[in-house]
Amino acid sequence: MIKLIAGNWKMFKGPTDTLAFFDSFEAPDGVDVVLCPPFVSLEAAVGEEWPIYAQNVHWSDEGAFTGEVSARMLVELGVQGTLVGHSERRLYFGETDDTVRLRAEAALAAGLGVIACVGETEAERETGETEAVLRRQVEVLPHNDSLVIAYEPVWAIGTGKTATPAMAEDAHAFIKSLHATRVLYGGSVKPENAAELLSQPSIDGALVGGASLDAASFSSLCQIAASLS
Ligand code: PEP
Repeated sequence: MIKLIAGNWKMFKGPTDTLAFFDSFEAPDGVDVVLCPPFVSLEAAVGEEWPIYAQNVHWSDEGAFTGEVSARMLVELGVQGTLVGHSERRLYFGETDDTVRLRAEAALAAGLGVIACVGETEAERETGETEAVLRRQVEVLPHNDSLVIAYEPVWAIGTGKTATPAMAEDAHAFIKSLHATRVLYGGSVKPENAAELLSQPSIDGALVGGASLDAASFSSLCQIAASLS
């Protein structure tokens, strides 16, 4: 199956840096690519040839929700999908399994694709709660062909720590037993460790933070994924 490589730029790259990235980014055939710039850079990015996703979406069409953006607004701009439930949203902005579900449902209803992030913290893994946490986070997600799950162990995001390929494979297989969809791995993926992770049978691609900010390293990740598809 063709691999999907998605880049989450978090709160990096305004419109100028976004356009500069696309000047040098290249991906071969044989890989699906998605980029998730910050809201203010979406308009610059949708003019490029790659599918562009937002990093979050609200569940209402409109209303008194300062700082939020609706699925309908994203569709109007030409955005094709959105992340929901990233661990940084869960950790710093009070995102819960319920609000993740609401955001995913609204996005899908508007015709957007969704990458829904799940994953355990270090403490949860150490106390043997990984499967219980994943089950709770995955079971609320809607079943829809346009929804992809990203397994991102929280202890591996932006830390340089990566789950071993075997650890990631176990978690992916468990998630797929609950929800039959593509499952991406996320957590310090870079060109040096991508081939080993992406070769695992249940790993269908990657959600990449830090290494997606540099056009050369993101291009190289896309090449590695294409060679394994
Ligand atoms: C992410 O932000 O989803 C992520 C996986 O970040 P990083 O690749 O930097 O660990």
